[in-house]
Amino acid sequence: MTNSNHETYEILVMKAVDGFLTDTEQRLLDEHLQTCDECREELQDFQVIKRSTDRVRERILQDAKIEPFRESKGVKAWNWGSFVLLWLGALVFFGFATYTFFLDPKVPLLVKVAAGLAGTGGLGLFAFILKTRLQGQAHDPYREIDL
Ligand SMILES: [Zn+2]
Repeated sequence: MTNSNHETYEILVMKAVDGFLTDTEQRLLDEHLQTCDECREELQDFQVIKRSTDRVRERILQDAKIEPFRESKGVKAWNWGSFVLLWLGALVFFGFATYTFFLDPKVPLLVKVAAGLAGTGGLGLFAFILKTRLQGQAHDPYREIDL
């Protein structure tokens, strides 16, 4: 690095603003700034900009500290209870509907076969989605992180 290479010092000015200079780079820049008004002014300008962007960033971080919505234990239990009731009711209802549907002599055999195929396909898809969801939960590296 020679003293004549002005562009190198512009990079060092940027690093200085971000606080990433090594001791050697700091010494080289200090020496250069004593003789180069342009770089000295640039450094001062960038430091002013950096201070104001830091203030903006602090304000954004402060705003982000607003508590995120969290489900309380009561709400979770309520949701689970409702979910279980819904499934129990749906199972009994569809069980009864299926039972009477397949035993009804007025329903043609072809329609019963079609309903059976559709039902089996639906159950297969449901089982696949359930399996995928459960596997996804088991492998989710962010599961432990409570945001
Ligand atoms: Zn310079």
